[in-house]
Amino acid sequence: MRNRKLPSRSGLVAELPPGPGRPELVRSPDPARLAWTYDALLEALGPQQWWPHADEDGRFEICLGAILTQNTAWTAAARALSQLRAAGAWPAEAILALPQDVVADLVRPTGHFNVKARKIQEFCRVLVEEHGGSIDQLLSGDAEAVRTRLLGIWGVGPETADAMTLYAARLPTFVVDAYAYRLAERMELAPGARQYERYRQAFLAAIGPDVARLNEWHALIVRHGQQICRRTNPLCDACPLLEDCPFGQRTLGLAG
Ligand code: SF4
Repeated sequence: MRNRKLPSRSGLVAELPPGPGRPELVRSPDPARLAWTYDALLEALGPQQWWPHADEDGRFEICLGAILTQNTAWTAAARALSQLRAAGAWPAEAILALPQDVVADLVRPTGHFNVKARKIQEFCRVLVEEHGGSIDQLLSGDAEAVRTRLLGIWGVGPETADAMTLYAARLPTFVVDAYAYRLAERMELAPGARQYERYRQAFLAAIGPDVARLNEWHALIVRHGQQICRRTNPLCDACPLLEDCPFGQRTLGLAG
């Protein structure tokens, strides 16, 4: 049982005024509650070790994996990556040289395999034709420059761009996904209605630009969302966040 002091439930505190990419005032979650949540998740689940180190080949793999895992589990993306390597469809130049239906067959485990094949071939085309095949060149610059460049590639949306920016480029950003929306809403940490950029900026401001911590935050949210804070039948009675979670306390009839 943790004896860490529970922060007062002060909700949203920091305010980010309108600015570049932020047309409206954004209220940020209370950093003290977020820090408590992070510590509780880390203590209960342990470090997730999502790509603590990655060489150039690893960074390319992270980028392809970020596309392949769209709307599917990472295990399926990992299987597709293995099949690409085993077939000699590696790295970018080799993937580009193959007909799209062959690539689609290799990434079949990820579902939507025709569109996934097109997406990874488009990513490879930009990498090869515009950056000389250098993943380091594609990922050069600060976080905003990198994610803007990635968002310009067909098939790369905000969540995918942020996963690449954080895990492949190792630059500070917050990855927003269905698990993050759910956790924020259930714990009453949401900075407003679901809107990707609102959440990203609010959580990034509250957590700070610590890349290792942002890496671990996203990994912990995913693990917790898959195993404990499930969409239906969440395991609130076994959750390390119950002490500070209004939804969980209501679910278990503990709310005063
Ligand atoms: S207490 Fe329940 S609703 Fe709250 S975070 Fe935990 S699993 Fe999710």
